[in-house]
Amino acid sequence: MSIEPISRGLRGRCPRCGQGRLFQGFLSLRPACEHCGLDYGFADAGDGPAVFVILFGGFIVVFAALITEFVYQPPYWVHAALWLPLILLVTLAPLRLLKGLLIALQFHHKAAEGRLVHRSDD
Ligand SMILES: [Zn+2]
Repeated sequence: MSIEPISRGLRGRCPRCGQGRLFQGFLSLRPACEHCGLDYGFADAGDGPAVFVILFGGFIVVFAALITEFVYQPPYWVHAALWLPLILLVTLAPLRLLKGLLIALQFHHKAAEGRLVHRSDD
């Protein structure tokens, strides 16, 4: 697999032409590519970006909080001051990147919902 779909997805660009923008707001998609006209109706990242953010971000924050508690045993306000900004950072920063990446990979691999196919020889 070439690196092109990954690059386009992480930059939030159209998965087909790489020129048009994918996002309209922070996470909402444009209806179509402004450059090549690709309809973004196929794009459905679902819960994928959130799952990756929860798994990796949760691991980072919980691991750091546990290490800090075991080593320094700070008061609770220190935990709040440290981990609330870190939670925002590790959840919001990668969310858009991951959504763009998953949509680009969905387009590249032609991934879609399963459909029943009626065979003609029956
Ligand atoms: Zn395009």
